[in-house]
Amino acid sequence: MTRVSEKAVQRTAAVPAVAAFDVAVARVERVGANFQRITFSGACLNGFGVAGPLLDLRIKVIIPADGRPCPDIGALMQGGGESAGWYQQWLGLEPDERGSMRTYTVRDFRAHEAEPEIDVDFVLHFDDDGTGGPASQWAAKAAPGDRVCLIGPNVAAAQCTTAGSCGGIEWSPGLAQHVLLVGDETAVPAICAILESLPAHVGGDAFLEVSDPADIQEVSTASSVRITWLARGAREHGELLDQAVRTAVRVPGWVSLAKYFVPGTAGARTRNGTPGTPGARTRNGQAGVGAPGSPGGTSALAGPEPEEVDIDRTILWETPQRLEASVLEATPNPGRLPGSQPFYAWIAGEAALVRGLRRYLVRDVGIDRKQVAFMGYWRKGRSELA
Ligand SMILES: Cc1cc2nc3c(=O)[nH]c(=O)nc-3n(C[C@H](O)[C@H](O)[C@H](O)COP(=O)(O)OP(=O)(O)OC[C@H]3O[C@@H](n4cnc5c(N)ncnc54)[C@H](O)[C@@H]3O)c2cc1C
Repeated sequence: MTRVSEKAVQRTAAVPAVAAFDVAVARVERVGANFQRITFSGACLNGFGVAGPLLDLRIKVIIPADGRPCPDIGALMQGGGESAGWYQQWLGLEPDERGSMRTYTVRDFRAHEAEPEIDVDFVLHFDDDGTGGPASQWAAKAAPGDRVCLIGPNVAAAQCTTAGSCGGIEWSPGLAQHVLLVGDETAVPAICAILESLPAHVGGDAFLEVSDPADIQEVSTASSVRITWLARGAREHGELLDQAVRTAVRVPGWVSLAKYFVPGTAGARTRNGTPGTPGARTRNGQAGVGAPGSPGGTSALAGPEPEEVDIDRTILWETPQRLEASVLEATPNPGRLPGSQPFYAWIAGEAALVRGLRRYLVRDVGIDRKQVAFMGYWRKGRSELA
């Protein structure tokens, strides 16, 4: 369970929203066939956090280049002047001094201890030749005492008063009581942390695809969200998740969507009525994937075609908050805003998988984009930039 500091914190607009934390590896634990949990500690983490649960909070991890110390990001931030200054300065360093910056999720944060701790679950992934990206390679060999730099929310910053304003949290269900959570292994830490924070009155489905049955984790939730783990084995990445969502979100089906849709999209058509998902396993003893309801919608109504995103050049990142900002900019009377609807979906993982589900949910099912966060966490065949 993600815990936050109960200490009284003086927040001020005078300090930047993010800070650098030089931390050491305290423990390394294999928590699945392909998950390496690294616990970072350091007194500086007393300055880390936001007010409230950390949910899907993302941080940056600077992996030092082989045999080199981590660059002093704190010093770059102090000397940076304008807000983007430190990043440009860091990019300007020689590659063997700079190291690599990667994005990860805080799986847990224990602020109460004398020495606060952060857990990050690294997916270990390897190419055919046994190598992987810098972060995965580093995590595979990490040992107590190794040092990295984390960049995350500054608990003293005024922006970190609420989860939504700190900039690293996307989970924002508003009043929704019916949720859909979908992710591959890179999103498992975020989905587990979100599930742990959900109250009893929230229901829906969570689908988590992992490579191996030994990657399935225990996750506790007070909610009635049905948790389904999908072990991929030799199947294509994302195949099981795609099938699971198409099976669960049928119209009419998973939830009485007509009741929840914005006017004009109720009765949206569905593309297929796929059979139950092989390999699916629910953790809370409920029935497997497959929703009640009559098979296949018949109406010709569906949602708009979402704009194409070139996932090899840009990051697919479409969240209600971003849409809200652009809608508010474009029209003074945008109608129903995010947060006012009883259904919310959060989808993250490999970008092609997320793009396919975006098309299905928005265009084929007709779900309002203001109800869904679509996030390409990584792209097959591409390193995260920097
Ligand atoms: C908001 C956010 C939160 C994230 N949280 C987590 C998290 O908690 N845990 C986690 O493990 N990842 C997480 N990720 C994904 C992680 O940032 C990427 O997987 C990252 O590319 C890993 O860096 P790397 O140095 O190991 O590989 P890179 O150098 O970035 O990539 C090298 C090669 O490996 C491939 N690759 C990258 N990741 C994977 C993978 N998972 N499986 C197979 N091949 C891969 C790339 O396509 C590329 O070909 C998150 C991403 C985002 C945007």
